[in-house]
Amino acid sequence: MRKIIVCTSAARFAFTALLICGSVSFLVAQRKERLIDAWQPTHFDIAIVFDNELTKLTSATAKIDIVTRRNDVSLIDLDFGSMPVTAVLVNNTPAHFNQHDEKLDVQLAVPAQKDQRLNITVSYSGTPKDGLILLKDKDGSPTAIGDNWADRVHNWIPCLDHPSAKASVRFTVTAPADYAAVANGVMESVNQSPGASVKTWIFNETKTVSPYNMVVAVGRFATGQLKGDSPVPVSYYVPMSEGKFAEKAFSPAIPSIITFSNLVAPYPYRKLALIVGATKFGGMENANTIVFSPNYFNNFTTAPERSKKFDIPKATEDVDAHEIAHQWFGDSVTESTWADLWLSEGFATYFAGLFLEKNEGPDAFREYMRGNANSYLAYEKTRRAPIHDTQTEKLFDLLNPNNYEKGGWVLHMLRGMLGDEAFFTGIRSYYDKHKDLTATSEDLRVALEKASGRELKSFFDRWIYKAGHPVYQISWKDAGNGSIMLTLRQMQSDDAFLQPVTLEIVTEQGKQRVKIEPKSKETTWTVKSGTPTELTIDPDEQILKEVIK
Ligand SMILES: [Zn+2]
Repeated sequence: MRKIIVCTSAARFAFTALLICGSVSFLVAQRKERLIDAWQPTHFDIAIVFDNELTKLTSATAKIDIVTRRNDVSLIDLDFGSMPVTAVLVNNTPAHFNQHDEKLDVQLAVPAQKDQRLNITVSYSGTPKDGLILLKDKDGSPTAIGDNWADRVHNWIPCLDHPSAKASVRFTVTAPADYAAVANGVMESVNQSPGASVKTWIFNETKTVSPYNMVVAVGRFATGQLKGDSPVPVSYYVPMSEGKFAEKAFSPAIPSIITFSNLVAPYPYRKLALIVGATKFGGMENANTIVFSPNYFNNFTTAPERSKKFDIPKATEDVDAHEIAHQWFGDSVTESTWADLWLSEGFATYFAGLFLEKNEGPDAFREYMRGNANSYLAYEKTRRAPIHDTQTEKLFDLLNPNNYEKGGWVLHMLRGMLGDEAFFTGIRSYYDKHKDLTATSEDLRVALEKASGRELKSFFDRWIYKAGHPVYQISWKDAGNGSIMLTLRQMQSDDAFLQPVTLEIVTEQGKQRVKIEPKSKETTWTVKSGTPTELTIDPDEQILKEVIK
């Protein structure tokens, strides 16, 4: 998603406290994640019925297919919020259950053995306290829209609320007939019984979806289908009063689908719906059913920074491309753990930049990457942590420039080091191997190593598993015989970065470039050169860095 949340001062204070205590290592705890253990879901069949004003679910039934992962499983510990559960069935037989502390423990009458398939049916009703947001839109019309990142979907769907617990999902949504409904997947049917005031929509997604990307949206929307040469239908659902902006605001959508299809692989799903409504984020990338912020159209015609190609605010172009890039990275290939979140956010950030590069040219891309570097460098002054962050407890605090801007820059650096051909070959094979599944940072490393024939462990160790960035300083002295000796120092307080650094030397005779290969924090390099009048470190801006004179 696009974050609109910044690190709060309270969070910064907490982190400062942590740094002060940092030398006492046992105080820094590993975050406990809700990983798959005894069982995992394989399919959700969710039926929900709304009241007239979309204030509650008058009834809901979740039929969940699960498979056990080990022997002697006697308890299925679903994550579930506080809506009252009226019945639980296991393979159509009533089962004992216990609802407590956002859990729904279902007892199995006979312990299940490894690889056993079971169906759990949960019946419930009420108003979810989060996850499914029941709010009026800016026209005052009721809406019900899922907004589930990071682990809020269990407030309205019993599940295993971790991104690795991916499953296919089918939604049956019943709501007043004058509303529109959309959900993950393609619409299988919409029915209205003669004389009935409600309609029932069925949406089916056969690909696996992580829990936070499951969504329904119901409301009185202005809707339409985008025109263009798209491989899948692209439709929009926006507040009635903003319908006039929709086609223009979403005009980068089909070009994004085409750009990323060409760079990576065909679009992973059978449709794309673009919704404007209740989300905490600038945009939320739910699988093939993206929800953009209620403020999406604010300043739409007046924002001064505009996309040259689409004549829409730059921020709109950016968020469109970012959320659509997530359909490949985040949605289809999902991070295995929260520590691998950059595989979602760093990729979406970088691919939104690649969209600019392909559609608006290298200057727009360079400007975008500079802006990202500045955001990360400002953030890094307040907090030092690796991208692969196993400690931050609050998942919302992971929506930080390490996972977004620095993650995007890591990809840019890899592309610079490996060259376009090996880099994109590696990205494509990483995608192919992990689509509809999950991936770790190590999976990405292995794919890029295979494509390039290069060892990348030290690069990943330094950039992904440790904090910081290089702070370079270059100096030179005459080495005699028409040569100069260059000294490249790394002034950061922590370990050296060993990737090659290109240096451009300008003399009265002309320009030349040399590639310095650091072995430590101070590297000397002798080259044939006249007296330098200018030395530029990393002239093509391929390294996330600071330079001090
Ligand atoms: Zn994102």
